[in-house]
Amino acid sequence: MRLILLGPPGAGKGTQAEGIKKEFNIPHISTGDIFRENIKNNTELGKKAQEYMNKGLLVPDELVVDLVKDRLSKDDCKKGFLLDGFPRTIEQAKALDKELEKMNQKLDKAVNIRVSEDVLVERIVGRRICKDCKATYHIKFNPPKKEGICDKCGGELYQRDDDKEETVQNRIKVYNEQTQPLIDYYGKKDLILDINGEQEIKKVLEDIINNLKGE
Ligand code: ADP
Ligand code: ADP
Ligand code: ZN
Repeated sequence: MRLILLGPPGAGKGTQAEGIKKEFNIPHISTGDIFRENIKNNTELGKKAQEYMNKGLLVPDELVVDLVKDRLSKDDCKKGFLLDGFPRTIEQAKALDKELEKMNQKLDKAVNIRVSEDVLVERIVGRRICKDCKATYHIKFNPPKKEGICDKCGGELYQRDDDKEETVQNRIKVYNEQTQPLIDYYGKKDLILDINGEQEIKKVLEDIINNLKGE
């Protein structure tokens, strides 16, 4: 299964990716996670990306595209993949199309998680991430058993720098301007699977999996 996940920041892409990845046994590739890992390790890429991320802006296409191409060439992607947070611009989508064509592969679906704008801010501001295993929680909607501690690995939970209220509005604006057009782009290719993201986490996953399995 070759999938991409679309949806605004806070829609639940990362959360759903965990369940989808398990169901179809495919690698979850999150460009946001890759950038955050680079920032943590103080790499050149991390330093460049951080400037944009902290402002709620997209990292320039040329810094993202090669990274994804490289990742897709790895052995574990032979059985499929789940891209989360990529593509985010039409340019990126075209680059992905080209690369897949070269690899003789096709996307199966673009899963579009729909959530209205007024729900997003509360979701993003309450998001907490595990420093060690990157698991995602929400202080109200998906709290860990023990406050501040990851259920899965015992790691410490933190709030992303760009999840502060000041940056969130800008990220939503950037999404509306640069990423939302992808719904149309993939719609024309008849690849969009629309999912109501304003349901319980479990129910959203059920909808996605049932639809992908063609039930
Ligand atoms: P994205 O990757 O699209 O930015 P996340 O998966 O990180 O979104 O989810 C954003 C926040 O909202 C997280 O704190 C997550 O726990 C929470 N969340 C995700 N899905 C739901 C849902 N269906 N209902 C309520 N909260 C959710
Ligand atoms: P969210 O799902 O909450 O929007 P991500 O973790 O996917 O967050 O992305 C965090 C930030 O990383 C984005 O706001 C952007 O600055 C950068 N980023 C991630 N993926 C891309 C991409 N494909 N193109 C450009 N910037 C990206
Ligand atoms: Zn953890």
